[in-house]
Amino acid sequence: MHRPYNFSAGPAAIPEEVLRQAAAEMLDWHGSGMGVMEMSHRGREFISIYEQAEADLRELLAVPPQFKILFMQGGGLAENAIVPLNLSRGGALDFVVTGGWSQKSQQEARKYASVRIAASGEASGFTTLPDPATWQLDPQAAYVHACTNETIHGVEFQRLPDLKALGSDAPLVIDFSSHVASRPVDWSRVGLAFAGAQKNLGPAGLTLVVVREDLLGHALPACPSAFDYKTVADNQSMYNTPPTYAIYIAGLVFQWLKRQTDGALAGIAAMEARNIAKAKLLYGFIDGSQLYVNKVAPDCRSRMNVPFFLRDESRNDAFLAGAKARGLLQLKGHKSVGGMRASIYNALPLAGVQALVDYMREFEQHHA
Ligand SMILES: *Cc1c(COP(=O)(O)O)cnc(C)c1O
Repeated sequence: MHRPYNFSAGPAAIPEEVLRQAAAEMLDWHGSGMGVMEMSHRGREFISIYEQAEADLRELLAVPPQFKILFMQGGGLAENAIVPLNLSRGGALDFVVTGGWSQKSQQEARKYASVRIAASGEASGFTTLPDPATWQLDPQAAYVHACTNETIHGVEFQRLPDLKALGSDAPLVIDFSSHVASRPVDWSRVGLAFAGAQKNLGPAGLTLVVVREDLLGHALPACPSAFDYKTVADNQSMYNTPPTYAIYIAGLVFQWLKRQTDGALAGIAAMEARNIAKAKLLYGFIDGSQLYVNKVAPDCRSRMNVPFFLRDESRNDAFLAGAKARGLLQLKGHKSVGGMRASIYNALPLAGVQALVDYMREFEQHHA
């Protein structure tokens, strides 16, 4: 028997192997006589957990040496303030607004810097992404912010924009919270990337920041020391006590990712192949059905978050109740969009998407 399939947008499913290992190590980690939650972050045991997690993540995501990996706290929303505090240098910022999350980011940044909207997908109800060739970039901008996977609206950049080719030397800042580790990252196009861990990396409470070294050391005077990237980097993410248990679980997820294979592919490449297959199965079924609809333009669709609607919305509650009875959990859509949303992150297997599609087909037949 498998556990129910969990389609939560976040905090989201964690690989069962990871949960079992964590349970087995809860009272005594590797013969130390301590659980990980009880260890000093300065001790030999935790330092080894931390260093392994960082090295595994660097390998998995192929993070180049000129980037620092920081394990922080505060989530994606705190980064909406922490990024301008560190990178704005009193200059103006360009935002690409493609859904609910980048919308929130630009609002928060206005507290710290002057913000321009370089492009927006709002006119389409965030069902398409504005073509980078149409972005109105300010050559003086301190950075350009984009959310590369919009968790609520279900749009995803299939390629990172090449700002240099668009005439801008500004660093690109990406919020990749909800598709980190689901596909490779072209670091040559990125200045800084941040992600809350609770979608695809591990438990809530941990925030990943990957930042190019030359962007460190320019924080505004009002920036809290614990949120100054240079302070965090100089102290190996241990200026203050880091979220130790969340880092440990994320480290187990990284080891799980390293073990994954798909044919000749391994690690993130294997995950990407599986994520493509999962998305193809679900979107293919939705597009072929009479009852369900996804409104996002096909070339902008997220592989991770699939919002969909029943053409007859009076059946929403019946759909969700039937899903739950079959062990298909947390499919209710975000309150700002309505309908349903299936988040199909790394930890949700193809068999889970197949079970969802089987249920959706049966529900449609019974309600025809
Ligand atoms: C979930 C999410 C966030 C918010 O993260 P918090 O940890 O709640 O602050 C930010 N951006 C994106 C794209 C997300 O999916």
